[in-house]
Amino acid sequence: MRFLLLVFAAVMMYAQDRIVLQTGTLLDGKGGTLKNQQIVIEKGRIVSIGTGKAKADYNLSKLTVMPGWIDTHIHLNWHMDANHKSVSNGGKPEDMALYTAADGWMTLQAGFTTVQSVGSPIDGLVRDRINEGAIPGPRVLTSLGQIQAMTGAPGQQRARTVEELKQMVRQSKADGADVIKLFATAGLGAGGGQTMTDEQVQAVCGEAKAQGLRSVVHAIGDSGAKAAVLAGCTAIEHGTFVSNETLDLMVKRGTYFDPNFLVLHNYLENKASYTFTDAALATLEKGLAPTADVLRRARARNVKLVFGTDAVAGAHGRNYEEFIYRVKDGGEKPMDAIVSATSMSAESLGMGKDTGTLAAGYQADIIAVEGDPLSDITAVRRVVFVMKGGKIVKNLVRE
Ligand SMILES: [Zn+2]
Repeated sequence: MRFLLLVFAAVMMYAQDRIVLQTGTLLDGKGGTLKNQQIVIEKGRIVSIGTGKAKADYNLSKLTVMPGWIDTHIHLNWHMDANHKSVSNGGKPEDMALYTAADGWMTLQAGFTTVQSVGSPIDGLVRDRINEGAIPGPRVLTSLGQIQAMTGAPGQQRARTVEELKQMVRQSKADGADVIKLFATAGLGAGGGQTMTDEQVQAVCGEAKAQGLRSVVHAIGDSGAKAAVLAGCTAIEHGTFVSNETLDLMVKRGTYFDPNFLVLHNYLENKASYTFTDAALATLEKGLAPTADVLRRARARNVKLVFGTDAVAGAHGRNYEEFIYRVKDGGEKPMDAIVSATSMSAESLGMGKDTGTLAAGYQADIIAVEGDPLSDITAVRRVVFVMKGGKIVKNLVRE
């Protein structure tokens, strides 16, 4: 009898742990479209997808269901203060912690169940509280900081040695970084020239690999991007002026590429919150056409394009605008943009067997939008259902 009771209790727990989603249109994250499927979830993971007839707990049949999106390039801590001014460091530590957590929550509600923040030390604390289930937020991977070529006070700068750079990588790992972020070039406003020597790039990405960490590289100009690809770095961010030769090299080396539109539009739209000069704003605007151009050239070559926005203050919670720029300005097919933001980005983060795809065995990271993003990409703005690891964090579904 006692045995039977135990079995009964176990079955009850099992039953409570089971969720059935009825879908109408399902994008699997790998380019496939399935119709009228039921997704069965147990213990936070998908156990089956099929044409079952079980009683559904949630009816998503009028929506487009897909894997939770992934943004591989954000700055979680970078926020607007009470006066709507951009803050990326300084201020009160308690403000920074709360704004970082708030940015995570906004981003999750926007349909992004995984983000990579590159990055600030506060990210690690927010990541850990989210992982404990203490606060809501996306899966967070973070570099905790950024590695630059130079060190020292302004006017007394010197190049870091190879050994110093390797030590910084090891320290990042010891501090709990999930990834290493480095700057191989200057910013767009400064022309994007190479700032880190080839040897320095090799030192950082080589040591990252030796420590079992991925490396993502800020590179605007071609020479810095090429150095990073040759050094075996994992991913190139921005890549505004990357040549076809370097794109071909990325294909050969399996380097991931993350071009970003939203960051430029966001600066232009929120210029009152930033301190850009008119000349700097003009330079940012001039960066849009080359971004569209490099995306087209990369897509034509089958470069492994991931999804990243470089979201800073003003962009958190509307990261999905990047889809619209990529399709409308960069000529990308909606399905390609969605695969980029799901299975391809997951693969680039080393999570390709865990999230970014709707299939048995994967985390139940599932979102739904109103409308059909394949025919109208602006449907990505209408996220009405978000589930992360089998837990519903947003449900605005109307029957
Ligand atoms: Zn960035």
